[in-house]
Amino acid sequence: TRRPLVAGNWKMNGLMASLAEIAAMGTAYDVYLKTRVELILCPPTTLIGLALDVATQGGVGLGAQDCHADASGAHTGDISAEMLKDVGASYVIVGHSERRADHGETDAAVEAKAAAALRAGLTPIICVGETRTEREAGEALAIVGRQIEGSLPADAPGTIVVAYEPVWAIGTGLTPTLADIADMHAFARERIEARLGGGKGRTVRILYGGSVKPANARELMSVANVDGALVGGASLTAKDFMAIAAAY
Ligand code: 13P
Repeated sequence: TRRPLVAGNWKMNGLMASLAEIAAMGTAYDVYLKTRVELILCPPTTLIGLALDVATQGGVGLGAQDCHADASGAHTGDISAEMLKDVGASYVIVGHSERRADHGETDAAVEAKAAAALRAGLTPIICVGETRTEREAGEALAIVGRQIEGSLPADAPGTIVVAYEPVWAIGTGLTPTLADIADMHAFARERIEARLGGGKGRTVRILYGGSVKPANARELMSVANVDGALVGGASLTAKDFMAIAAAY
């Protein structure tokens, strides 16, 4: 009963001209696809308000890629969850590995951002995932378990989304084996249920992210406890992104 979610993360890509690509996504998101899968796009913050009309027309939801933990205040350059909600976002990615690495975001910081998103009425997509070194050391499950424990607000509702993105699979064309994904997602489900309680933990959607492409989407999405995908590079064009969505 978990509705599959395909989310695009444009990262630091996208100019005004890219709004046409969002319109094309909406056109391809036909009534049949809408019954099978929820589709959202997280463009750069600069485009959210501008994309709202065309995205809404096409039934495509909008999300942001980060938010500040406070609702407002003296934080030059930062954007709050309230502001994102105000311009039309309904989701926000928090704790992406690129932000954990580039901006030193800790689990505690990610938890605070997720809580801020919930207060503002946004659904957080909370990202977790091990590095290559951690996987090679046999620590992948332990690392992800710790990130779930530390990054999910304990009182979060069952509507939140968790994205498992192994850092070594992002932008590399590499993916874990289906068996490894199945193990990790089953383990994540267990840890999410332990953190939020079984009832809520069962409804949380767990996305897989990392080199999801039209060619591998169908097999990745067939794995138990994979409730959708968080797509980077392949979400930049309507052609690839909609081919991934259609894999459901
Ligand atoms: P790629 O799909 O480009 O590997 O990126 C994944 C990602 O980081 C999505 O958040």
